[in-house]
Amino acid sequence: MLTQSLSAISLALALAVSTPLHAAKASPSAKTTLSTLSAAEKSDLLFMREEEKLARDVYLTLYETWGLPVFSNIASSEQSHMDAVLKLLRTYRLTDPAAGLAIGEFANPELQALYDTLMAKGRLGALDALQVGGIIEETDMHDLVAAIERADNADLDATYANLLCGSRNHLRAFAANIESMTGQAYAALVIPQDEVDAIVDSPLEQCGTP
Ligand code: MN
Ligand code: MN
Repeated sequence: MLTQSLSAISLALALAVSTPLHAAKASPSAKTTLSTLSAAEKSDLLFMREEEKLARDVYLTLYETWGLPVFSNIASSEQSHMDAVLKLLRTYRLTDPAAGLAIGEFANPELQALYDTLMAKGRLGALDALQVGGIIEETDMHDLVAAIERADNADLDATYANLLCGSRNHLRAFAANIESMTGQAYAALVIPQDEVDAIVDSPLEQCGTP
């Protein structure tokens, strides 16, 4: 009996304490902080952090090699994309895979191999370097669309949508540079040509701050 009564009191106290906490969970910021990620959402977020780093590192290095302003402008945009993903990593208490890594260094071996391959092409000539930009942006778009499909959390979707908007603008910039260099229309390198045409033939967008 006594045990039962104590249990009842404990339960009552627990409820009394948990009520305000539960009420706090209803606010959007608390909801975001307390929600957890699926395994797919986690691995996508870790991958995206380094995929944005790959873009930044390639563009910084190709700017040093070729001095084309497009690389320097877009590298700073990629830095803001990296920062946006880092913010999400911190929200969900995930360890930053890019922490302490120098330019051109990656924790993910797949991205390390891609970086090495793209840099080898980018050093061949200015046109190759611009095409590397196209490859990166088309690949980013493909991966971001897949991550958005897998994500349930609204904050992930919102950040990925901003990154995707940035990638469309970056692709427009690289395509314009390639077209002015070659005098020919931009040929898709990763995703279908009709999808690329729809982006390249539409005006620059105002993307939200990620
Ligand atoms: Mn980006
Ligand atoms: Mn980009």
